Amino acid sequence: MITFNRLTAPAVLLLFFSVFACNRPVPRADAKLKVLTTIPPLYSFTKNITGDLANVENLLPSGAGPHERSLSPEDVKKVAEARILIINGVNLEAWLQKLTSSVEEIRESGHTGKEKLIVVDTSIGVGIINNDPHIWLSPKNAIIQVKNIRDALVKADPGNSELYVKNAAEYIRRLEDLDREIKDEIRTWKSKRFVAFHPAFKYFAKDYGLKQAAVIRETHEIGPSPGHIADVIETIKSNGIKAIFTEPQISHKIVKSIADDLDLEVYSLDTLETGSPYKEWYEDKMRSNLAVLKKALNRETE
Ligand SMILES: [Zn+2]
Repeated sequence: MITFNRLTAPAVLLLFFSVFACNRPVPRADAKLKVLTTIPPLYSFTKNITGDLANVENLLPSGAGPHERSLSPEDVKKVAEARILIINGVNLEAWLQKLTSSVEEIRESGHTGKEKLIVVDTSIGVGIINNDPHIWLSPKNAIIQVKNIRDALVKADPGNSELYVKNAAEYIRRLEDLDREIKDEIRTWKSKRFVAFHPAFKYFAKDYGLKQAAVIRETHEIGPSPGHIADVIETIKSNGIKAIFTEPQISHKIVKSIADDLDLEVYSLDTLETGSPYKEWYEDKMRSNLAVLKKALNRETE
């Protein structure tokens, strides 16, 4: 497991002072490329490409989701210190825009003596479905994201480009294996319809022929209306669905009441939006989701 480098309060103050308040260029204590990612999957993708060649850190602490976020002074400091900021895109990190422009102002004012922050939108080239930002839940999309990260690293740090290219190729092979494994597994299932809590698994469902029959909560912002819940219940009944999926990050109240009413089993699928990522974290999490889906959907065929 990765534990993040949490700086002590005096160290934060000192850094703030040296980064923002001093006119002289700050000597770099660490010459390694500083890379910041916004969500755990992007951390795994990046870490597999850089190995120890760069300092990679995930911006969001392990309990915080990416959809809404108010930024702390520590976040601002982290972004100001980074050379590359790797984002998911598809408007997932809308809250970052204000931050990156204020960071640019700080840099342009000449206080840091640093080059422009490179922001890498990893969604470039991904076929987006209805503005759904959860693209990383498809390993095929993950491969596109890895390629975008690789290209940015090669450009920013050409001295290590050969290793970045080699590591990325190895990781892409692993993601292709993961994709094949999921495909081979799901191909054998008789039941492929499921009900999800929030509409995060469209890309996954599309890749593997699963059908997201209904979604309990359409958006993060607004809770479901009684009419929508009634529709969901109707869909569950008419499709003979026996399993309902929730997510570890959310309150289970609505899910639980629907499940109790209809005598359904509740399973937890991870959208991979929060957590404490490490190198193999993405593959591990995707495989545990597959195991949960298998248990739930195979039960439906009994
Ligand atoms: Zn989400």
